[in-house]
Amino acid sequence: MNNTTSKRLSLTLLLLAGLIIMPQLGFAGNNEIVVYSARKEHLIKPLFDAYTEKTGVKIEYITGKEGALLERLKAEGKNTPADMLITVDAGNLWQAAQEGVLQQIDSPILAKAIPENLRDPDNNWFGLSVRARTIVYNTDKVNPADLKSYEDLASDRWKGKLILRTSKKVYNQSLVASMVAKHNEEETSKIVSGWVNNLAAAPFSNDTKALEAIAAGLGEVTVINTYYFGRLMKEKPEHPLAIFWPNQDSDGVHMNVSGAGVVAHADNKDGAQKLLEWLAGEEAQATFAGLNMEFPANPAIEPDPLVAAWGAFKGSPLNVALYGKLQSRAIILMDQVGYK
Ligand code: FE
Repeated sequence: MNNTTSKRLSLTLLLLAGLIIMPQLGFAGNNEIVVYSARKEHLIKPLFDAYTEKTGVKIEYITGKEGALLERLKAEGKNTPADMLITVDAGNLWQAAQEGVLQQIDSPILAKAIPENLRDPDNNWFGLSVRARTIVYNTDKVNPADLKSYEDLASDRWKGKLILRTSKKVYNQSLVASMVAKHNEEETSKIVSGWVNNLAAAPFSNDTKALEAIAAGLGEVTVINTYYFGRLMKEKPEHPLAIFWPNQDSDGVHMNVSGAGVVAHADNKDGAQKLLEWLAGEEAQATFAGLNMEFPANPAIEPDPLVAAWGAFKGSPLNVALYGKLQSRAIILMDQVGYK
């Protein structure tokens, strides 16, 4: 190979590498916004398309697992192409803020649209949809009058009848963290230990499997995010399952969020902030929540009729940022009482 051929080959390889990388990361133009999303493509794409249609602003995005996206943001640092991070669970949002990959956004629009308990007190992130983690029971086996609270699932009444998802999932870490916030660690330990003693089977890897176990009669009660119930019942309406809203005469149902923040090293901070404000507003909120059968974070917006049909309930007023703050204590506590 002579010199010229070798140079040409190198140039071709460089160009090819560029072509391969470009569509994935998007070397965003001035006006474009790049989003890293732990929310799946089918839940965000319709919104991004609508935003582009309305404003002409292009949005490039990648989707991935929460942990992987956070690691990627940390590794990329100042060189990140990302302007916005969308992720699920306040525990993950809090973690992202702790790691310094988000920046504070002081926006009167966001402050007005999103209730105070559903956003970071330091304005690094904002809840955009609410997921209620509630009790579901087998309607052939349980009289709902016997159900009360998350805490009561530790009582002897539920011995050998409780099904739970694994404690490795952030949803349960947040639930237990919320209990540490409202009781204390000692009291919470007793409750979680009671749950473990009442298990009908080893913890399941996801909420849907927990629901299937209840439907099959392996257990009688479980704790899940309502959108998994909604999805399963759409597919299998014959399942003998119903939702119960716990803690209605005390602190209310455990509420969590999916949400977003503007990336600390965003090239297009203003663009990302405008998109975030739009996502929190009237036009986007019904779709953002409705596509996943969640509740809008903006209280001015009605939930999807299918979701509203599950009935009104009182939700916990705790600030969801507490779940992140107390997460490590919740994990240790669950480990200590043998909740796998
Ligand atoms: Fe989920």
